[in-house]
Amino acid sequence: MSVYNAVVLRSIKRNMSRVKNKKLPTIAGHKLLYECNLRCKMCPFWRRPDSKLLSMEQEIAMMEKLKEGGVSYLGFEGGEPLLRNDTPEILKESHKRFHTSMVTNGWRLEKKINEIHTSLDFLFVSIDGSKEVHDTMRGMQGSFEHAVRGINASKHMVPVAMSSTITRENIDSIGDILDLGDKLEVPINFQIEYDYSTAEKISPEKEKLLGALNMLIDRKKADGPIMNTVQYFEAIRDSWFYGYKWECRPWLTINIDPEGRVVTPCYIINEYSGSDYVWNIDIKKMWNTFDWEPYRTCNKCALSCYLEPSLFKWTRPAMVKSRIIDATIDYIKFSASKRNF
Ligand code: SF4
Ligand code: SF4
Repeated sequence: MSVYNAVVLRSIKRNMSRVKNKKLPTIAGHKLLYECNLRCKMCPFWRRPDSKLLSMEQEIAMMEKLKEGGVSYLGFEGGEPLLRNDTPEILKESHKRFHTSMVTNGWRLEKKINEIHTSLDFLFVSIDGSKEVHDTMRGMQGSFEHAVRGINASKHMVPVAMSSTITRENIDSIGDILDLGDKLEVPINFQIEYDYSTAEKISPEKEKLLGALNMLIDRKKADGPIMNTVQYFEAIRDSWFYGYKWECRPWLTINIDPEGRVVTPCYIINEYSGSDYVWNIDIKKMWNTFDWEPYRTCNKCALSCYLEPSLFKWTRPAMVKSRIIDATIDYIKFSASKRNF
């Protein structure tokens, strides 16, 4: 419990500075690189050349800035983070300061998990369907098998979830994804595909998406292996199909690109293009002078790293139960099972 207490106390302390500074990021995402060994149809990032990546000193300088800016949760992604040899060291530094997570395609996970598991609080492994569906969407034969082997090697060391992107190519296979979650005994975090201008446009057809959202709401209510809240799926359905918008609060999440630049106002607007170097700015000042107003009603994407925090309010008991109480219970259960394994 000591690690969990440290995370909770750190979050409370950093949240207290929110009283004085009206807008601060809670969650940070950082792409360690754009390079990837897979070729996912819907992904713009493997198509971008990497220029110079951050040194260890720059990664630490970035983390110190994020900490000062109020961030409690830092998630690493790419590209494929496990292609960098210094990723274990970067995760270790992050874990001293933040609740630390990583999303990986799983290809190198089985080999690497022993080096990284003590630095991770949560791990996401991308799986989009059955072997055939997944390998086709991800553009690489063998990617499903590696991801499953990676999950099996990791799930007793660190809490793991599958990360699944719903596209027109797998929308009919959501049942298979849920069955796989049950079989592997890990929950699934779903995203709805966003059509980037520089990737293949395979976002789901609207008619099918409505049925899929309703099915996911029912399965979540019936205790299916789903990490997203019911409110996440309901917000997308109510906005995109019935015109009731959610309030997007993109300032709760800050993203840093592989060169150390801050991506504003969010991941999707400007298609993840960074501007100021994070070590040159005062996050508190920037966040409270930036004009966030136009984005409150945006509702253009359903990225869970923006939508879930946007929906969370202490006055919404269902969200508090799902995000705080259930997550704490899951953490306690995982710690107990780890001791017994
Ligand atoms: S695994 Fe991730 S980073 Fe790599 S190509 Fe696929 S979506 Fe992009
Ligand atoms: S809904 Fe709009 S403002 Fe909010 S994260 Fe998505 S693109 Fe950005």
